[in-house]
Amino acid sequence: METHLKKERTLIIIKPDGIQRTLIGEIIKRYERTGLKLVAVKTVVSSEDHIEKHYTLDPNWRRVTGEKTIASYEKKGLKPPSEDPLEITAVILENLKKYMTSGPIIVMIWEGAHAVKIVRKITGGTEPLTSDVGTIRGDFVLDSYQISDNDKRAVRNLIHASGSVEEAEMEINHWFKKDEIIDYRLVQEQIIYDVNLDGILE
Ligand code: GDP
Ligand code: MG
Repeated sequence: METHLKKERTLIIIKPDGIQRTLIGEIIKRYERTGLKLVAVKTVVSSEDHIEKHYTLDPNWRRVTGEKTIASYEKKGLKPPSEDPLEITAVILENLKKYMTSGPIIVMIWEGAHAVKIVRKITGGTEPLTSDVGTIRGDFVLDSYQISDNDKRAVRNLIHASGSVEEAEMEINHWFKKDEIIDYRLVQEQIIYDVNLDGILE
């Protein structure tokens, strides 16, 4: 049987700046109040190797991210740091490894209908300067590629969230063992998903 859509899962990481800026509660609140369910959570200090694997689980990530970066420079009428996408990504990856291992991070799995897309919507676009108002990155960060590239560091955008269901599955396997993920029911799931609402009126 096909898995019900309410079982979709996504991986969220509160990056070191999220913890240092004491935004853990604020961030979790925004995901929790949608009706999504927290099925796994842990605090870890990661290794550079684990972070590199995380970002390169998708074999196209290096090329795509490099191309995206070149395009965003050209759109602003600026000359990209290199014409070679892989060279650009190598620098981004080095900066990401330093950033993501600089302190504790919180890794979570959230489950529910359209988990991946709902979480991306609430998280906001990658570059805080252009993330929509009302999203976490839009509301709590003032960073940009311009400043972070100039200072040779990763852009501080508080959160990682899986970009697709396939990416989520790979990332969940990368960060969690099966027995760290808990299958349980939230009482509120009845009003969110159940077809039959008999029993509410007394
Ligand atoms: P996300 O899914 O919104 O986090 O973005 P991506 O998966 O595309 O990129 C992962 C990380 O790489 C981002 O959080 C940034 O730290 C970095 N990154 C992505 N695109 C760019 C870019 O165009 N320029 C720079 N400097 N860093 C980038
Ligand atoms: Mg991504």
